[in-house]
Amino acid sequence: MSPSALALLGGNSAVTKGAGDIFDWPLITQEDEDAVLDVLRRGAMSGNDITKEFELEFAQWMGRQYALTFPNGTDALRAALWACEVGAGDEIICPSMTYWASCTQALTLGAAVNFADIDPDTLCIDPADIERRIGPRTRAIIVVHYAGYPAPMDEILPIAHKHGVRVIEDVSHAHGSLYKGRKVGTFGDIAGMSMMSGKSFAIGEAGMIVTGDPALYQRCISYGFYERTGVATRWAEADSQVTMEELKPYAGIPMGGYKYRLNQTCAAMGKVQLKYYDARIAAIQSALNRFWDLLEGVPGIKAHRPSKDSGSTMGGWYFPRGLYRADELGGLSCARFCEAVNAEGASTHAGSNFPLHTHPMFHTADIFRMGKPTMVSFGQRDVRQGQGTLPVAESIGEITFGVPWFKHDRPAIIEEHAAAFRKVAENAKDLMD
Ligand SMILES: *Cc1c(COP(=O)(O)O)cnc(C)c1O
Repeated sequence: MSPSALALLGGNSAVTKGAGDIFDWPLITQEDEDAVLDVLRRGAMSGNDITKEFELEFAQWMGRQYALTFPNGTDALRAALWACEVGAGDEIICPSMTYWASCTQALTLGAAVNFADIDPDTLCIDPADIERRIGPRTRAIIVVHYAGYPAPMDEILPIAHKHGVRVIEDVSHAHGSLYKGRKVGTFGDIAGMSMMSGKSFAIGEAGMIVTGDPALYQRCISYGFYERTGVATRWAEADSQVTMEELKPYAGIPMGGYKYRLNQTCAAMGKVQLKYYDARIAAIQSALNRFWDLLEGVPGIKAHRPSKDSGSTMGGWYFPRGLYRADELGGLSCARFCEAVNAEGASTHAGSNFPLHTHPMFHTADIFRMGKPTMVSFGQRDVRQGQGTLPVAESIGEITFGVPWFKHDRPAIIEEHAAAFRKVAENAKDLMD
């Protein structure tokens, strides 16, 4: 066997070193433990004091005036949709390639989702596929900064503004990502995000919205925070400035019928995590950039990252992807490529999320028991789309693969993992016979 023989075909594997703690996340120290234990020992899990501090600090870190915590990202985005006046019979636009919680909540508001295709290089919504989808009932565009990649806001915002449609950013993959030097989540009308344990900003189970618009902030409060609906509260000074007259009669009961108070153990962890987050994602940034720099020019595989002179960054590189181009490797399937990389001792898989537009939820589900699919229950035009309509999203299993999510910049380990991908790409023809 030559040293270049693929492990899948009996050769030696490229990765020989143990990973150690390079993939461990989130990073928990004594400081996190003390903060959480303090909440537990005070019996303050359902209190608001720590949560209020966390919201103010997070808003400051984002560079936005208002931040509001939620028990999860799904509910944060549900409240954002409602705040943007998405209601029964309305439509929203969302990329098909994202996690279901970017948009499925629209159905529970009686609205339909008009799915757009993605760009094969950014994996974010394709700006060229937005405008033709805007109709008289379109209320909002969901922009997902997919796998940390900042979506092209300069192209998206003018389309939304021209048609008077709100922009909701889903920042669940991209806490700390910069678009042309500015944090994603500060471009649209409002941003929602997950902070569950698997994400790059990970604090247990939690979500957040941030906005610069006091009316949107107040509407989010009134949707799921019974203590604060329509009244000035002691929570944050900002609240008393944004009390909305039309919400006052409903004080005491949340408009959504939801209760969104965060467990304060998560807020306590959030405050600690936030202090170290910039430094920790800087390490991730240099680790993943090192990995991709080593693979520059290798046929068939390409980094999913903005160019270095763009001022844009990948934040914490959540769910890091590679772009696969089978035509450069003699047509080798992405699945087979990944199988060979796994055999080399690096971990990968073909694809990303599954495309949402073909899922039965957006075709036949009758959530309100109205005898009709919810997508068309409230008099909307029928925007359901089947197989063959969004070719890039549908090809996701052939054009993307996972890469190792390094949390520390440790050259020796990263070089071995990069070597695994390089070796398979450079010997792809051995897998074709
Ligand atoms: C994780 C995720 C959400 C939902 O967040 P939860 O905290 O799990 O409810 C929403 N959008 C995207 C893109 C996500 O990845």
